[in-house]
Amino acid sequence: MGPETKLEPRNTQRQVVIVGGGIAGIATAWGLAEGGDCAVTLLEREAQLASHSTAKNASILRTLTGETASTTLALETAEFLTNPPGGFTDLALLDPVGLILLPARPDAPALEEWSRRKPAGAVQALNEPQLRELCPHFRGRAEGALLVRDEGHIDNAALIDGMLRQARRAGVRIRTGAEVTELLQDDSGITGVQLAGGDRLKADVVALATGGWAGLLASRAGSEMTFEARRRHLLVTAPQHHANPRWPILWSERENFYVRPESGGLMVCACDQDLVDPDHCNAREEVKELIAERSAQCLRGFDDAPVAHFWAGMRTFARDEEFAIGYDPDVSGLFWAAALGGHGMSTSVGIGRLAARLIRREPTSRQEHAAFDPARFARASRT
Ligand SMILES: Cc1cc2nc3c(=O)[nH]c(=O)nc-3n(C[C@H](O)[C@H](O)[C@H](O)COP(=O)(O)OP(=O)(O)OC[C@H]3O[C@@H](n4cnc5c(N)ncnc54)[C@H](O)[C@@H]3O)c2cc1C
Repeated sequence: MGPETKLEPRNTQRQVVIVGGGIAGIATAWGLAEGGDCAVTLLEREAQLASHSTAKNASILRTLTGETASTTLALETAEFLTNPPGGFTDLALLDPVGLILLPARPDAPALEEWSRRKPAGAVQALNEPQLRELCPHFRGRAEGALLVRDEGHIDNAALIDGMLRQARRAGVRIRTGAEVTELLQDDSGITGVQLAGGDRLKADVVALATGGWAGLLASRAGSEMTFEARRRHLLVTAPQHHANPRWPILWSERENFYVRPESGGLMVCACDQDLVDPDHCNAREEVKELIAERSAQCLRGFDDAPVAHFWAGMRTFARDEEFAIGYDPDVSGLFWAAALGGHGMSTSVGIGRLAARLIRREPTSRQEHAAFDPARFARASRT
């Protein structure tokens, strides 16, 4: 099919152009496809969808996010991954190996609230012998350990495949190698997008799901939204005969460290974060040292494990570290599905559904969603 060069709409449906083919854009396209009432085009500038943060994360389902509103989206996503509905039933979306959480503050009210919202029996307090039995490779502090039985590894590829399959069936157009260089607008607001190479697409709504690049296009169009991209590294050891692939994920907030089995070895993260230019998010060799130090404190038996893979990815944040999902307060027709921080996979299903409802301007009953509304920044700066 040739490139689209006209500004004419395809039909009378609302035209929604989604910019960015990571999990935020894919989930939004899928959410809109479920309703079938919009003509949706998903644009990704890389040759392949899901090639930035969405390809570089640890694939962990963790529903305790630290914020009530995003925890709600994560719980919705967990339910979906655990009991996939029609269209996904042939896919194993979650391997519930369990997640052991060592919270920074075991008495935090947010922890208690989250635990009440989990399915009965899903969260169990562990004493030290129980923790050591489940995680013989962990030698960090054991107090306050919780076993979250129904969390584990998300099969990101399966989830994305399922969402894309449904989106395509519903008529969503997907274009890769399609970089948006400008948002087009007139006096009434957004009218479309300009692509590198000259094509223009008409749109009633443009949804920006551009991850670490969020903000660049929009600021030129008059939006005041600002974001911060932070780099984080992951290291995977070479296979080790004593690494058990069924060990649970272990996340110590006290030690700023998480570890999980991966490909016969361990995936380790020192929860590092430094500000990064999204165009230059390369791995820094010195972070290997930090990971080695943290591993020496927290793990036994892996000091000499060779490194098999080491990479960095971006986590993108709004100023208050909450998601930005909703219409821009300053630019009419501009919608945000961005700032997913470190929780984009765990909240993906909830994000897709919520973004779709908001794009259609359907009422959302859940008060928490006000927390994601980009208008909160306009309110903050104008009062
Ligand atoms: C090391 C690390 C570990 C993580 N672990 C987890 C985890 O275990 N569980 C979890 O839930 N989350 C995790 N995350 C967070 C998760 O990966 C992100 O929240 C999520 O991937 C963000 O998705 P996104 O779609 O917003 O961004 P991206 O995946 O980066 O997608 C944005 C896309 O927009 C495209 N784009 C940008 N500008 C344009 C343009 N002008 N035109 C067209 N396309 C454009 C880019 O090419 C890119 O493909 C982790 C993140 C990191 C870095």
